[in-house]
Amino acid sequence: GYRKGGYHAARPGDRFAGGRFVAQRKLGWGNFSTVWLAYDTLLSRFVALKIQKSARDYAQAALHEIELLSAAAKGDPTNSKCVIQLLDHFKHAGPNGQHVCLVTEFLGDSLLRLIRYNRSKGIGLSRVREICRSVLVALDYLHRELGIIHTDLKPENVLLVSTINPSKDPARAGFAPILEKPEGNQYNGTTISFSEKMLKMRARRAVVKISRRRESLGGVTMEMEKERSLDGISMKCKIVDFGNACWADQQSAGEIQTRQYRAPEVIIGSGYSYSADMWSFACLVFELATGDMLFTPKVCQGCSEDEDHLALMMETLGKMPKKIACSGTRSKDYFNRYGDLKRIRRLKFWPLERVLAEKYNFPAPDATGLADFLRPILDFALEKRPTAAECLKHAWLN
Ligand code: ATP
Ligand code: MG
Ligand code: MG
Repeated sequence: GYRKGGYHAARPGDRFAGGRFVAQRKLGWGNFSTVWLAYDTLLSRFVALKIQKSARDYAQAALHEIELLSAAAKGDPTNSKCVIQLLDHFKHAGPNGQHVCLVTEFLGDSLLRLIRYNRSKGIGLSRVREICRSVLVALDYLHRELGIIHTDLKPENVLLVSTINPSKDPARAGFAPILEKPEGNQYNGTTISFSEKMLKMRARRAVVKISRRRESLGGVTMEMEKERSLDGISMKCKIVDFGNACWADQQSAGEIQTRQYRAPEVIIGSGYSYSADMWSFACLVFELATGDMLFTPKVCQGCSEDEDHLALMMETLGKMPKKIACSGTRSKDYFNRYGDLKRIRRLKFWPLERVLAEKYNFPAPDATGLADFLRPILDFALEKRPTAAECLKHAWLN
């Protein structure tokens, strides 16, 4: 990672953009970048600084992300559409090359942390509804007003809006801005050693088993709550990570989305659109409600992850209509001419509503209500899936 073409190794106190932004601490990282909490000395506020790897492809991807986020910011001057707000961007020259940097608003923990923090038991339906509204507002905006497909909607790409404003309440947030480069490894000054103590405490608390991928230990929203309770946390959230997003009329990638959130049309290669984001949305909602991913396909004897995935979908949602099953460029890999899976013959049907009631012990009305909301979004016929705007009007949310 930290080599030519790779990540930029930043340290607290490092200055960016001619000295304006001061790195505070690392918030997280991904395949493309490291993300730092930074202090904007010009406007006296905390921001997030996404420092892209320097190789040409990464730079290109960052410029693409900037293009999409600029369009999103331009169409949303009041910053109310639940999409992360791009504030600025610049290039930073470091020992590993030129890094494109995105400055965005500073947000809180991801939904992935929220799910884990709640010990994977689901977060309660009223919170699920709250999050649904924000995500749907964002999707409606992206799809209908901008013509953007996100293509990677999943818990780690939805961040809670931080309820703690570190500039207004540094003690509660656990830090005052670091403005000087600490000498050696030692921070000096009382506020800063306090901050270091907090960081250590936090690090200790954050020893969470992480199965799916390494993830940010940086957010402040939940960690700073006194009790291990979610009361008082605003459930407003925003969609982030537009590195894979695309204009609907300029699709390039055939394979999109993270495995568990991938729509059937992407697997069989029959063409996708905005409704692929809706599929991921439904998977996300199920996960928030139950603490488990809706579909976790595995390679099994003689069958691929794709085939297992299609089988799992059909076990929960019923058999895929033959016409749809056979409509993709890859249909022949999975289905015979009758539209049956070639290598997985016995499906154990367990419909969504019953899964919620029997496996997760949802009271009958809750199971029915949630299943009624999700079932249409998980239609194999993508043109029948409701849009984000239609979902916002659904009785379950109102
Ligand atoms: P990926 O490999 O998923 O494409 P990436 O390199 O594009 O990752 P992001 O997903 O944008 O990077 O960010 C990485 C992580 O940094 C996020 O999952 C999140 O934990 C954290 N993060 C990103 N932006 C912010 C922000 N504005 N405020 C707080 N934390 C953030
Ligand atoms: Mg990401
Ligand atoms: Mg990305």
